[in-house]
Amino acid sequence: MLLFMVQGLPLLGLGYGVWLFSREGIRPLDVGLLVGMYLLTMTGIELGFHRYYAHRTFETTRPIRALLLILGSMAGQGSTLLWSAIHRWHHAHTDVPGDLHSPTLGRHGWWQRVRGFFWSQFLWYLDTPAVANFGRFLERHRAAPDAVLASAEDSQEHRLVRTLPDLLRDEWLLRLNQRYGLWVLLGFALPTVVGGLATGSWEGAWRGLVWGGFVRFSLVQQVSFAINSVTHTLGTQPLASRDDSRNNAVMAVLTLGAGWHNNHHTFPGSAFTDLRWWQVDASGLMIRLLERLGLAWDVRRPSAEAIAARQRPSRSPHE
Ligand SMILES: [Zn+2]
Ligand SMILES: [Zn+2]
Repeated sequence: MLLFMVQGLPLLGLGYGVWLFSREGIRPLDVGLLVGMYLLTMTGIELGFHRYYAHRTFETTRPIRALLLILGSMAGQGSTLLWSAIHRWHHAHTDVPGDLHSPTLGRHGWWQRVRGFFWSQFLWYLDTPAVANFGRFLERHRAAPDAVLASAEDSQEHRLVRTLPDLLRDEWLLRLNQRYGLWVLLGFALPTVVGGLATGSWEGAWRGLVWGGFVRFSLVQQVSFAINSVTHTLGTQPLASRDDSRNNAVMAVLTLGAGWHNNHHTFPGSAFTDLRWWQVDASGLMIRLLERLGLAWDVRRPSAEAIAARQRPSRSPHE
């Protein structure tokens, strides 16, 4: 129920934003807060949660790790540890039994495919008990991470936690992760305060909350979740990734690089998802910049031989 409210409230806010737009249009400050907060929180998800915490594709400084954790948490897609665990589980069971959000697993015929699409878009998130229970589960076992990692229990929470041996032993990370609710609220407070201060009015604060808070939250969430539905259904498969992952240029732009999903599933340990010059990977560009500045190191990338070895023999005409 709580999860439904957390999901439902921003959707109501999105509906209010659409109504407001139909009556008054949208002002430059609203656009700035919407786009700015979208880019910040999407960076937290793709660069932070996905490429740093879930896949450990590079190393970086502690302040940047903290910043990425806070920005990703502001997107409200679950705490860093929950998000990373579900994602690591997805890579270990992609589109095969056990995958929590495959759109294609066991789906035959167009009606089943449509149902699969909506399941992987957001229904799985509301109907997976571990999503709601994971925070309390971590709290219960916080004093003994090694015991919970070694436990033979087969609950969904135990299965997810066993994907996190490296992250679970990081006490600093556990402390920041524990404050997940605070970071989500910060994601709403920040545009509210900026909107209020920039206009010097309560109305400006309210509009900041609507556009930079509720509307941004709903858009980032549905675009991120579409990586599970759209990029396992629509797009090209130039590489042999042994699953249904696809490259989708529109999704790649919207997700700051995650949409080159066939590339990513083929080389999940790579810090970059672009394998061709025209494949724009905004998060990869940010990692290159951090590397140049000496703020990222041990940046992992596949060799040219490894990429050549995974090309499908009959390439798509779009590739
Ligand atoms: Zn995937
Ligand atoms: Zn991944």
